[in-house]
Amino acid sequence: MRCVGILTNPTDKGGQLHIAPEKLRQTTTPYTPIEINQRFLLSDPAITTLTVGAGKPEEWDAHLRMADRVEPLTPEEQATLQRMDDTMKRELGNTYCSYCFECLPCPEDIHIPEVLRLRNMAKAFDMVEFGKFRYNLFGNGGHWFPGVQADACTDCGDCLPRCPLKLDIPALLRETHEMLTGEPVKRLWR
Ligand code: SF4
Ligand code: SF4
Repeated sequence: MRCVGILTNPTDKGGQLHIAPEKLRQTTTPYTPIEINQRFLLSDPAITTLTVGAGKPEEWDAHLRMADRVEPLTPEEQATLQRMDDTMKRELGNTYCSYCFECLPCPEDIHIPEVLRLRNMAKAFDMVEFGKFRYNLFGNGGHWFPGVQADACTDCGDCLPRCPLKLDIPALLRETHEMLTGEPVKRLWR
């Protein structure tokens, strides 16, 4: 029996890829960010369906070019994804967060990995606007997007010994909050 895996709105919630910054576009060349994202997802047998929207007709083009491509990733696609990974690690240096979740739980309910994932994307690919879009949902996202903003950190230090990369988590949280905080974003889905 094959399970049906449906992913909702991976273009917008996956990085506002319809308005991707130039730095991200350069890294994913020869594919657009939407194309490589769609291939990455639909090459996974666990994912059978994507639901996508478009603000203007031409945004459909990238989705349609990859709509029937569900085979394993080609060597060129794999190389593109590896280049994105390498770029992120190079740009972040010794502040790269691997999103391993080992630092949780935080007694203040800060979703440390997600905050630092947004920082990774903002620093590596100039995805600051996407970072603000997601970061300002903290506290308003319910169980779909749990956690509070990073300025709730009390410097208790509980997370520090659990991080395998020995990151200075409170300092990175403060920096991320300064970079991304803004008007609260209300979630539009239930
Ligand atoms: S130092 Fe800050 S982020 Fe780490 S567990 Fe304590 S409150 Fe949470
Ligand atoms: S333990 Fe460290 S590397 Fe892992 S998610 Fe937390 S901050 Fe990131």
